[in-house]
Amino acid sequence: MSNELHHAINAQINAELWSAYLYLAMSLDAEAKGHKGVANWFFIQFKEEQDHARIFMNYLNSRDCKVVLEPIAPVPSEWGSVLEMFQQTLQHEKKVTAMINNLAAIAKADNDFASVNRLAWFIDEQVEEEESARDMI
Ligand code: MG
Repeated sequence: MSNELHHAINAQINAELWSAYLYLAMSLDAEAKGHKGVANWFFIQFKEEQDHARIFMNYLNSRDCKVVLEPIAPVPSEWGSVLEMFQQTLQHEKKVTAMINNLAAIAKADNDFASVNRLAWFIDEQVEEEESARDMI
């Protein structure tokens, strides 16, 4: 794997963990305000984002590329409304989609077909992530 792709996937692991942290914060804020169903929805997203990070970690390991964990940036602790949470979720997932597309573009330019295939799952997953945020809005 190219150094460029290795480092970009490593950065993606941090981004997935940041997403997990964001959704955990939303879950806690929703729970604190009595929105138990919303809290549960975001807690499930929290777990899914950790799974995404784990899939990328496993992939780098399988390609004999070292995973380096970076600090996770702070997240907000309060939102004005549940609607605002879902709007931010959609906005955030669109950014993640752009990041995944960038990884796929690097893999394609590298003729790294194993990475192209691995990333195809994430490309499909992002369509679902954006759709489910839009459905909630
Ligand atoms: Mg994700």
